[in-house]
Amino acid sequence: MTILAEFAPLLPWPGDGRRITALLALHTMSTTLDIVRIPVLSDNYVWLMREPQSGAVGVVDPAVAGPILAEAEKRRWKITHILNTHHHGDHVGGNLEIKKATGCTIVGPRQDRARIPGIDVEVDDGDRYRFGEAEAEIFFVPGHTSGHIAYAFREQKALFCGDTLFALGCGRMFEGTPQQFWTSLSRLRALPDDMRVYCAHEYTQSNARFAVTVERDNRKLLERSAAIDAARAKGEATVPSLLGEEKATNPFLRVDVPAVQAAVGLSGGDPVAVFAEVRHRKDVFR
Ligand SMILES: [Zn+2]
Repeated sequence: MTILAEFAPLLPWPGDGRRITALLALHTMSTTLDIVRIPVLSDNYVWLMREPQSGAVGVVDPAVAGPILAEAEKRRWKITHILNTHHHGDHVGGNLEIKKATGCTIVGPRQDRARIPGIDVEVDDGDRYRFGEAEAEIFFVPGHTSGHIAYAFREQKALFCGDTLFALGCGRMFEGTPQQFWTSLSRLRALPDDMRVYCAHEYTQSNARFAVTVERDNRKLLERSAAIDAARAKGEATVPSLLGEEKATNPFLRVDVPAVQAAVGLSGGDPVAVFAEVRHRKDVFR
């Protein structure tokens, strides 16, 4: 695609601007995202990303402003966007200060527009939001909060899912129902295995401790749990993960799997009921 686009202006098609435009359009379909993880507060991750063709720089869920502005400055990246997934303070706390410092555009969930400080662009389920030369598909994923959204960059295989889906876990159900939450998670589960899951917290090790009490015989889960312990012992991050490994090991994505249903005494049960039970067990797990 790139080669076609580079040669396009040289081809002898006077007056055929349409065809050249089509080739250039192909070229712009393909780009990358450079994504940087910034740990803030006790266990939050803020994601700073740059789309290199346009130079667009986005911040996903800035809990705070200072460390994000400093990281962008260090890289000489000019922040052009904030992408919010939901209204919680540890996701929007840096919005106004970053906007004041950079003049960036704040994108957030339409359903939560009253709770997203400084929101400029409201997006909703099925929207496609153009970020530089990349494009995010918006998923409305209520459950943790009533207005939560996720940004899926399909071409770049990057899913920014806030507090909906965690590595080996999911968010607490503050404002939603089990039906809503399971619907949201099952929609994210339908995305490709090779998507990377950029969630907003380093909760993986405690999530793993719970997960192995649900699926004691899941070999992939036991291996993953051991790898997580080893990584955390070295102070390494466990996020992002791969969606494929979440599908294979995350109990909240597996409530329609017989082994998980049996583990919570609901063999053959409705996945919504199984989800509610697994979520409850995690809430009271110590
Ligand atoms: Zn939250």
